[in-house]
Amino acid sequence: MQYAEIMVRYGELSTKGKNRMRFINQLKRNIQHVLSRYPSVKVTADRDRAHVYLHGADYQAVAEALKEVFGIQAFSPVYKVEKDVVVLKKAVQDIMQGLYREGMTFKIATKRSDHSFDLDTRELNQTLGGAVVEVLPTIQAQMKKPDVTLKVEIRDDAAYLSHEEVKGAGGLPVGTSGRGMLMLSGGIDSPVAGYLALKRGVEIEAVHFASPPYTSPGALKKAHDLTRKLTKFGGHIQFIEVPFTEIQEEIKEKAPEAYLMTLTRRFMMRITDAIREQRSGLIIVNGESLGQVASQTLESMQAINAVTNTPVIRPVVTMDKLEIIELAQKIDTFDISIQPFEDCCTIFAPDRPKTNPKLKHVEQYEARLDVEGLVARAVEGIKVTEITPQGQEDQVDDLINVLL
Ligand code: ATP
Ligand code: MG
Repeated sequence: MQYAEIMVRYGELSTKGKNRMRFINQLKRNIQHVLSRYPSVKVTADRDRAHVYLHGADYQAVAEALKEVFGIQAFSPVYKVEKDVVVLKKAVQDIMQGLYREGMTFKIATKRSDHSFDLDTRELNQTLGGAVVEVLPTIQAQMKKPDVTLKVEIRDDAAYLSHEEVKGAGGLPVGTSGRGMLMLSGGIDSPVAGYLALKRGVEIEAVHFASPPYTSPGALKKAHDLTRKLTKFGGHIQFIEVPFTEIQEEIKEKAPEAYLMTLTRRFMMRITDAIREQRSGLIIVNGESLGQVASQTLESMQAINAVTNTPVIRPVVTMDKLEIIELAQKIDTFDISIQPFEDCCTIFAPDRPKTNPKLKHVEQYEARLDVEGLVARAVEGIKVTEITPQGQEDQVDDLINVLL
């Protein structure tokens, strides 16, 4: 027998009052999006659940894709059979024979929305349970915590059978919380931060600072590749490359070594905020983690954050490095992150950055620079690329590969 559809149960969005339909429609679009490479698949969604009709598409492949969609609590593959007692008996026998292991317990749980059906739920449970025991004499019917619960649903058009529940990704549908700008380096932390923001429904755009020729095409490709990994969870992502060379050279020339890092980060924050405003983002997301490096002391965070009132979300701020690495491995970004291409911060990093920068000094050094002009030119020079799971920018990347 082949699965006909997948029944999808919603996660937290069921508690969202009158926003509920907005959430459900977004989730439906997100499911349609990840399944768009299976043209036969159709998706419907009502208040209580969504249905993914396979129409012959491969269940395993579709299920793998569904597991990454935020806003899904669980889903069950479903067989569809004719509403006929003889057919139903044969179907439950086939299914249970396929699942049977020695000592197995089971129960049949029937629901009827078609109340004109010949048998009521109690009679159906008995008849179908009996049919199973007929072909598997050693199987035990058990009402409490059976190994297998075979659900039978008698609907108007047909009967639907399911026995398996697959855990979904949880979270909220991407796009339901608004847009945020993810500051994406080539490191381990920021892709994980992006993943966690997506998980809470934030649609992200990736902002990446590049300083050619100090940073290599390889570093840029790495950032592209990391972004592409994130498209698995939220669909296409706009990748915004910011030209950062001029700013880094200016800072290096005019500010003392110990303050390079703080000044650099403040510029990044200002520029990201300006881009956010242009592109109707609500928040900034970054991969800062408390105490990891000099830029990530509370004093540093305060000095860097002082350039904006925009909320800065730091999803990994309280996580241990090992916890972040575990997640990076789970979302398959770790191996890309550890590729040895230096990003702009590593190259200009001083040996001993200030861990407790004083705002007074920071402002004094910035007065030596044309902050507004530098920010404006960087924002003007951004290059926006749409990153897709298998996108056109691959061609560019392939070219880069040849050159490397
Ligand atoms: P990551 O692993 O994300 O690079 P990190 O531990 O290396 O983080 P930092 O280098 O201090 O930490 O960077 C802190 C955060 O600043 C990063 O997580 C990222 O959000 C942002 N950031 C750093 N460099 C860049 C860059 N080149 N482009 C965009 N954002 C950056
Ligand atoms: Mg880094």
